[in-house]
Amino acid sequence: MAKQSLIAVVGSANVDLTTFNDVFPRPGETIFGRSFDLGFGGKGANQAVAARLCGASVGMVAKVGNDLFGPATIKNFESFGIDATNVGIAKGVSSGVAPVFVEPSGQNRIIVVKGANDALVPEDVDAAAPLLRKADTIVLQFEIPLRTVYHAVQFARANGIRCIVNPAPAQPVDLQKLCAADYFIPNESEAEAITGIPVHTVDDAKKCAEYLLGKGLRRVVITLGARGCFVAGADGAGLIPAFKVQSVDTTGAGDAFIGSFAVFLGEGIPEKEALLRANLYAALSTTKVGTQKSFLRRAEFEKDWQNCGKRL
Ligand code: ADP
Repeated sequence: MAKQSLIAVVGSANVDLTTFNDVFPRPGETIFGRSFDLGFGGKGANQAVAARLCGASVGMVAKVGNDLFGPATIKNFESFGIDATNVGIAKGVSSGVAPVFVEPSGQNRIIVVKGANDALVPEDVDAAAPLLRKADTIVLQFEIPLRTVYHAVQFARANGIRCIVNPAPAQPVDLQKLCAADYFIPNESEAEAITGIPVHTVDDAKKCAEYLLGKGLRRVVITLGARGCFVAGADGAGLIPAFKVQSVDTTGAGDAFIGSFAVFLGEGIPEKEALLRANLYAALSTTKVGTQKSFLRRAEFEKDWQNCGKRL
């Protein structure tokens, strides 16, 4: 490895509360569920964990609630060796939580309560400046207030730090305020929601990426699930093919992709190889159940990377 990446994630942390049951209760009814699982999630936290497992030094800028989940979330970051000194506790709000109800068929119903994630404000970005200035890359998603995302993009530009924006979940956005970011990385549905251009084929991805470049974004990567990803910039565009794997759970594939891509770039790996590696890292995460639990450590990943051959 050439040099260690220093990644800062300004983003969300949630606790997923998953109940597995045979039926859903009717209004007013109380039933016994079959089993329950508590997991740490939120796109920001997931991307931070992916980056850390990939070998980067990672700092997290986030807000958790003044409840049982707040300290547990901070402890989870620390258990991975992620710097959580910029994870603040917001008073008077709950932590971000996602109660998930799963039927035997695998069908789920999810309610996301953003809670403390909504309390991460631009001033928190400024307060984390000492950490952020050390980073080679700042990674952002849309589970915190957009004004905080816009502010962090400007901070990155002003300080010459690479900036990756993952517009997830999609919402109406002022693209002008993201033009200073180095990479804009939506998945197919986010790309469609933001541009109005449906993305079903690689050709659609090209049209959509051209639209986004036309709006002033610098480089666009659209992740295309089992097809890989499409990258576009002023110097051209093209598909970076996926790796064929036995997928069992694709939850968190996008987070694995973003977190690992940031690390590979920070190590000085050229963009095309970094994208190909991120495709493999994300593909491998789909071969295991769960999100953070499905992310590989760097040493395991490197074995697979060598075995797959460097298709460059
Ligand atoms: P999201 O998880 O945000 O919906 P995608 O489904 O586009 O994002 O997946 C992100 C990346 O994960 C893809 O670009 C690809 O590299 C990898 N990936 C996802 N699903 C598969 C799959 N079934 N087989 C191989 N790679 C996959």
